[in-house]
Amino acid sequence: MCGIIGYIGNRNAAPILMSGLKRLEYRGYDSAGIALVSGETVRVHKAAGKLTRLEAVLPKRPGGKLGIGHTRWATHGAPTDANAHPHLSPDGSIAVAHNGIVENAPALRTRLRAEGAEFASDTDTEVIVHLIARTDEQPLEQRVRDALAHVRGTYGIAVVDAARPDCIVIARKGSPVIIGIGDREMFVASDIAALVRHTRQVVHLDDGEIAVVDARGFRTMTMDAQPISKSPATVEWEDDAYERDGHAHYMYKEILDQREAIERTLGGRVDRRFHTAHLGGLNLDASELLEVKRVKLLGCGSAHYAGITGAHLIESLARIPASAEPAAEFRYRNPVIERDTLYVAVSQSGETIDTLMAVQEVRRCGGRVLGIVNVVGSSIAREADGGIYMHAGPEVAVASTKAYTCSLVALALLALQLGRSRDLSPERGRQFVEAMERLPADIAAALATEAHVKAVALRYAHCTSAFYIGRGPAFPIALEGAQKLKEISYIHAEAYPASELKHGPLALIEPGVPTVVALPHDALLDKSIASIEEVRARHGPVIAVTHPGDERIAERADAVIEVPRTEDMLNPVVMAIPLQLFAYHCALALGRHIDQPRNLAKSVTVE
Ligand code: GLU
Repeated sequence: MCGIIGYIGNRNAAPILMSGLKRLEYRGYDSAGIALVSGETVRVHKAAGKLTRLEAVLPKRPGGKLGIGHTRWATHGAPTDANAHPHLSPDGSIAVAHNGIVENAPALRTRLRAEGAEFASDTDTEVIVHLIARTDEQPLEQRVRDALAHVRGTYGIAVVDAARPDCIVIARKGSPVIIGIGDREMFVASDIAALVRHTRQVVHLDDGEIAVVDARGFRTMTMDAQPISKSPATVEWEDDAYERDGHAHYMYKEILDQREAIERTLGGRVDRRFHTAHLGGLNLDASELLEVKRVKLLGCGSAHYAGITGAHLIESLARIPASAEPAAEFRYRNPVIERDTLYVAVSQSGETIDTLMAVQEVRRCGGRVLGIVNVVGSSIAREADGGIYMHAGPEVAVASTKAYTCSLVALALLALQLGRSRDLSPERGRQFVEAMERLPADIAAALATEAHVKAVALRYAHCTSAFYIGRGPAFPIALEGAQKLKEISYIHAEAYPASELKHGPLALIEPGVPTVVALPHDALLDKSIASIEEVRARHGPVIAVTHPGDERIAERADAVIEVPRTEDMLNPVVMAIPLQLFAYHCALALGRHIDQPRNLAKSVTVE
């Protein structure tokens, strides 16, 4: 959600800001704006709607070699031109772009109004610029610090001041801000996506830090003005990884990318000698691994569904009790944090607010947290005690595909290592390792079902409702399949454990309502075939996602999609692929906005 970009250097700022904002579009936004500093004045251009509307209101040759830009995801005040950021101080000298929420904005507004302030917008953000403007004449960073001392809530902010045309001041609490280091030019952004075109050397601010960025460098300090030194990290993603490579949608490109992405997740982490995984980033030695008595997986949306599969993997391979819970539910119910429980937070962006807050809550209570994240250097990666990077490469489409399957693979590696540090025999370890190594080929075979899956999708794309069912480890396959369909096609889709069908949802099965059955050839196959019978008896169409070799399925299902059989616990990785393709082709047939579905944002960074 929402994005910030800033530039200071020798080049014209406006095109750099606009191209940075374009890179941030994928996160979802409803309005945008830029502020340019030139000749000791700040000019703000902003517009509700997409960036093309902002482009339309920009002057022909906007001047200024210093500026900030913002894509807004409205939390306080409608998405209007006036509410778009950056916001200006009453005298027009200071501009602020803000990600996050000022929780005490109403009280601050009342106080500022009593002092004579007049507000030009309905946003919570505008109080920040008023607070800065009313501070005494002193260095801008001091003014920003004084202002932020009054603010409760979350922020990543970028501030420019016409009287200080040589710097951008940024600050962070709960919403990321990054400095990008160029050659006699510097950048700031909320997301590396906006920076990689210009530089891969970045510095991440931590919560409670503030920085002064000028064209030649930066200074970082705490909110109480203690200088801190920070060293740059190198971003591993190349700029062209953000391109669509000629495909119509990022989602499609990312579906096709899964074979290579999973190879990267596995890369160097499989130990053939001891038939285990080698995960260097866990920061847990063998005896600490042995002390783990329980595993709790936390995440939101697809990351939570990955967690459910992770719990199955861990219980099955390591025989450690494991469960998954939506991160927000967990953190708001005063959870019992245990020393010998391993908490695992799953998040593609590493910025998902509820997951991040859950991580902070666990750590505050002395619990140990691992992060499974895709974005290197993201908040969860930095706050966790250790973790596993997915190495999926940038995921731009809102609907997760490759990050989902890569997180399953990361969880499988974790389960294997936990299992092999306990009772999982070398022989079972060897079989599992071999299955993991076959995964890229299995994925390729699953991708090869596309033409058939597309034909099936075209048959059912116009249904208004669909069910997804599965048993045991196949239930989260159904959950994620239904999630994909509803996210991008807007078809109402519900997932149930197959065993639950007759406890309620069967009442809704009728000829126009297809049921997608995840049907791996595992110990529960016969039971799942019985579920197909139940659906057929109510004349509901059945789409079976299964493996080759069981005649009974073809005899009963209206459509059969076959993928290679792997280890039971790895079927969720392979079976995710045709379900992604099914959702994609349904959405395509319906003409949906696939990469940026309505009402959804890529990473949910505000509550
Ligand atoms: N709370 C601010 C607003 O509604 C910022 C939202 C955002 O993060 O884009 O304007």
